Amino acid sequence: MNADLTGHESEIELTNPRVEGDVELAFEGALRPQSLAEFVGQEKVRGQLQLLLTAAAMQKRTPDHILLAGPPGLGKTTLAMIVAHEDNRPLRMSSGPAIQHAGDLAAVLSSLMPGEVLFIDEIHRMARSAEEMLYLAMEDFRIDIMVGKGAGATSVPLELAPFTLVGATTRAGLLPNPLRDRFGFTAHLEFYAEHELEQVLTRAAPLLGLDIERRALAEIAGRSRGTPRIANRLLRRVRDYALVHGGRADLAAVHAALELYDVDAIGLDRLDREVMNIILTRFGGGPVGLNTLAVSVGEEAETVEAVVEPFLVRIGFLTRTPRGRVATAAAWRHFGLDHPQVGLTLDDL
Ligand code: ADP
Repeated sequence: MNADLTGHESEIELTNPRVEGDVELAFEGALRPQSLAEFVGQEKVRGQLQLLLTAAAMQKRTPDHILLAGPPGLGKTTLAMIVAHEDNRPLRMSSGPAIQHAGDLAAVLSSLMPGEVLFIDEIHRMARSAEEMLYLAMEDFRIDIMVGKGAGATSVPLELAPFTLVGATTRAGLLPNPLRDRFGFTAHLEFYAEHELEQVLTRAAPLLGLDIERRALAEIAGRSRGTPRIANRLLRRVRDYALVHGGRADLAAVHAALELYDVDAIGLDRLDREVMNIILTRFGGGPVGLNTLAVSVGEEAETVEAVVEPFLVRIGFLTRTPRGRVATAAAWRHFGLDHPQVGLTLDDL
């Protein structure tokens, strides 16, 4: 955990879109929208979910299983909670890494209440054996439990209460097809536009007891990597700054606080800049393979791929090609470097 007793997180990467520590979890709990109507942005997904939930309610059945895909911090957990909340269903939270054996999953599934929503975060990290058990559970609300060992082992079928599985993944591509196919609906969450993040912040500020200028909110929104979790986190740092310096939470406070935390004008943080810097200076703009890149910045390949790259791709600094990652002309310009004449350009690939 990275939190101290004063409620400040220390040593965390401010723009890491993953949750860091219990203090942040508590803050997030307070800031989470409770209904689809309160959920900002993602209009298409919201409309689709609304339809799915209303139809299920009309027919008095559990809603179809739902897969939520997208980078961290965009609202997957929040949506899972809303799916339960909208229809007053109980919610069980679990995660792929917590399900290391089929038995772990069997314990969860067999204790679900009728109509319960089961949220499995990072579902792509679940054990293979559990995945197979999940296929049957999703389709027939039934699992087979193995009793005994070796030649005498038999499988005993166990009926489950009907439930709705909400799976979340940062890497939909890693899910095996049979699992992906068993979700009735897959939502791909997109990065948020600045005006949407401004709405998220406008809602969050009074919940944090913060009186803040509109211009300051707009500035934070512009530096939040299209991600509500980061927007809320930056807001808290600006609040701290205003508190400690006894000033207003205004534009000057935003500039000063974010400079202190090394978040640049377009929201890039240290790791983003390091990734771009390595591609541009060490590999002449690329192509460079994901693993080489990850080793060069001292991060896991999964973090670089699921956390860092999606935003760099979205702002047009990076393209993923079959031969590796390539920096774009916009990236060369942003970092004030001259595009080399030698080496491959995008057109060669
Ligand atoms: P994920 O599960 O995708 O990592 P979360 O659902 O935990 O993301 O969201 C992270 C934080 O961002 C939560 O505190 C939540 O309040 C906020 N948030 C996410 N999406 C929205 C949204 N559409 N509107 C308002 N707040 C949001």
